[in-house]
Amino acid sequence: MNKRIVDILKTDPPKEISVSGWVRSFRGNRFISLNDGSCLASLQVVIDSDKLPHELVSNLNNGASILATGRLISSQGSGQSVELQAEEIKIYGKSSQEELQKTILQPKRHSLEKLREQGHLRMRTNLFGAVFRIRHHMAYAINKYFNDNGFFYIHTPIITGTDAEGAGETFRVTTLPVGKNNIDNSKDFFGKPTHLTVSGQLEAELAALALGKVYTFGPTFRAENSNTTRHLAEFWMVEPEIAFADINDDINLGEEFLKYLINYALTNCKEDLQFLNDRANKEESQLPKDKRNELSLLERMNMVTENDFERITYTEAIDILLRSKPNKKKQFKYEVAWGVDLQSEHEKFLVEKHFKKPVVIVDYPESIKAFYMKRNDDGKTVAAMDILFPGIGEIIGGSQREERYDVLEQKCKEFNVPKDAIWWYLETRKFGTVPHAGFGLGFERLMMFVTGMNNIRDVIPFPRTPNNAEF
Ligand code: ATP
Ligand code: MN
Repeated sequence: MNKRIVDILKTDPPKEISVSGWVRSFRGNRFISLNDGSCLASLQVVIDSDKLPHELVSNLNNGASILATGRLISSQGSGQSVELQAEEIKIYGKSSQEELQKTILQPKRHSLEKLREQGHLRMRTNLFGAVFRIRHHMAYAINKYFNDNGFFYIHTPIITGTDAEGAGETFRVTTLPVGKNNIDNSKDFFGKPTHLTVSGQLEAELAALALGKVYTFGPTFRAENSNTTRHLAEFWMVEPEIAFADINDDINLGEEFLKYLINYALTNCKEDLQFLNDRANKEESQLPKDKRNELSLLERMNMVTENDFERITYTEAIDILLRSKPNKKKQFKYEVAWGVDLQSEHEKFLVEKHFKKPVVIVDYPESIKAFYMKRNDDGKTVAAMDILFPGIGEIIGGSQREERYDVLEQKCKEFNVPKDAIWWYLETRKFGTVPHAGFGLGFERLMMFVTGMNNIRDVIPFPRTPNNAEF
């Protein structure tokens, strides 16, 4: 295998090398901009067209894949430190001249919608190369953080027989013939109805009650028919679960973890982040002033790592919202009242207008949160916490879990959770139960924050949303 461009750009010239990649552009019958995806930067490959077969030169279209061999030298031109003076070019695969016009490989500005329609090619662009390199680094950092902090990675099932979570609509998993009414579930593959998981939490709890500190990091599925820019039908969730821990330990973990991940990106994805930062600034300069972000991408990231998150109770949040200008001016679409779930417009106000930094809200009314959350002594709130980020809204949702058998059993009744569906979950409260807590971080929500992309469809390689499962 040849050297990657990311390494070649750090090599001291002169040196004989071979390099493989895709043509990004070919100018003046002389300059090839070659990219191999290993980094944002392309390598300038200089050829002498007269010394190469005419047929070959005429096929150096955008998108063509080539092998270039020659001498790496200090660059004569500005804009790059080294360039390759190629003596030999081999084409692996041509790029169809006739059809190129229709594709996003044409080097001009394409809308994000058009790039999405060509999801099979969009990773070849600077923008999506940057996004998906960062996605890799974030996935790695997640595993690294947990490994370095004594957490064990647990693989929880994707197919589940429990529909007790209440985290949203599920997708059915079945081998029964489609289109049949009156399905006899006992004849189905698992002998009972099964679904794609909405969360690995309940199983992660079982693991935490044996291994102490664990996490899951895998795909989750929700058939939410809300076509928002923050929801996918298939997304990746990170769910740590810690034994011998309360809600404050949970919030501390969430804050430290998010800061670690953002710092990791700032340190390890410099070039791609700078590119995304400058791109967003340019895009926003076209928008009216009130539609622009007050802070740039890098400023927003630094703001998060440098500030303590604001911690308030749900009751305090409601008070702030009730006294707020937009509420008095009746500018909120949804009602603000104790007992009602916060809408994204309310979260936005708290984070972006009121506190101007990440906000952690704790102690939500019991009725609007899941059955497994620990009942507080006041009898009406639970030890739940949401972490809200600027531009994103909820990025983490977590809680201390109800560890008392009798209270949990009673809550199952109140929330209509059939006991026989999660008998195993209840059993853990009979054998050495302990205070424990955890949360779910939507990986793509984190990615939106770290890349500054505004649509969640643009931070996952192949998005699944209502009416869309292409590629
Ligand atoms: P939201 O109110 O934003 O729909 P939720 O309350 O349903 O979120 P949880 O069930 O607490 O979310 O899930 C944990 C985390 O998973 C959320 O904080 C969010 O980051 C992420 N998340 C939830 N639903 C989705 C989705 N459909 N697509 C992408 N990420 C999601
Ligand atoms: Mn949801």
